[in-house]
Amino acid sequence: MKGLYIHIPFCVKKCDYCDFYSINYNKNIVENYVEFLCKKIKSINTVFDTVYFGGGTPSVIGSENLCKILSSVKYKNNAEITVEVNPKSYKQDFFKNIFKGGFNRVSIGMQSANNEELKLLTRNHNLKDVEITIESAKSAGFKNISVDLMIGIQRQTIDTLKNSLDFCINSNVTHLSCYMLKIEEGTPFYFSKPDLPDEDITAQMYLFLCEYLRKNGYNHYEISNFSKEGFESRHNLIYWQLGDYLGLGPSAHSLINCKRYYYPNDINYFIDGNDYIYSSKGGDIYDYIMLGLRLKKGIKLYKIENYVTDAFFEKAKKYADLGYAELTNERFFLNEKGFLIQNTVLCDLLEEIK
Ligand code: SF4
Repeated sequence: MKGLYIHIPFCVKKCDYCDFYSINYNKNIVENYVEFLCKKIKSINTVFDTVYFGGGTPSVIGSENLCKILSSVKYKNNAEITVEVNPKSYKQDFFKNIFKGGFNRVSIGMQSANNEELKLLTRNHNLKDVEITIESAKSAGFKNISVDLMIGIQRQTIDTLKNSLDFCINSNVTHLSCYMLKIEEGTPFYFSKPDLPDEDITAQMYLFLCEYLRKNGYNHYEISNFSKEGFESRHNLIYWQLGDYLGLGPSAHSLINCKRYYYPNDINYFIDGNDYIYSSKGGDIYDYIMLGLRLKKGIKLYKIENYVTDAFFEKAKKYADLGYAELTNERFFLNEKGFLIQNTVLCDLLEEIK
């Protein structure tokens, strides 16, 4: 499986919690960026299974630019082609145009259905904008709609989280990505230190969310991702299952033939035609265990048995006995309680690689 990630590094306004690489929208820079991207992509001979436009705010560069970039890409007939959309940053007919241009999946940066929480996150949209965005995408023909939700927002409670989940369920979205808000170094939140719910409350919210979505027909297929049957993110599964992917644009990462590469967080480095930089080997046993334990299916024992000590299996059994995981003859996987302590489990298990 081969995926293509295209980073669109422009936002209208920077959100106070965000540390993704993006710069202020500027028409001239966008034009140069799109032109360079198209030239670069045309020179690539791979036929991709998935294409993902992330950001930044891809929708801010407009449907014409997005379709122009996509038309430079060689992709399979049944490819999954996703674009991230900010509920406030697109123009009229955006969805109609991109649907015609070949996009078949949208990922909407919703974060919450509660206007107070959206304000606290310094998002520039409100619930009405999200409603309009989902409806516009649907009426343009999109059947595969994902939304991002955040947990651990200041003043968020189980009740407000439930309202956000009900909104998503009633909107019949096919996929949800639910991330815990983290304060990243160097962001405005790092300095203003908002009073976020403590770890225990956030953990309760996570467990509530998992159960509520499960009861409402969503499969919890990855630590932070939920989908209706058949609507798992094929692109993200390539990352977690160690398929090859190429990332283009500043801050984009690639895994190609077991080697990892990246572009620095600098748009000029990219537009000037510099190549990606080798960072490390990838796709090895460490990656397999770290990424595999994000998935509900977990890791296959036959794939690791030659690389780990006997103590690995003793530790895995210990986590299963403690109620955090399951160990069968074929697989080891974390359950929802286990996902909450995934880092601890990983540190412990990775010590047992020979
Ligand atoms: S719109 Fe998205 S990428 Fe841009 S600053 Fe906000 S969270 Fe970050």
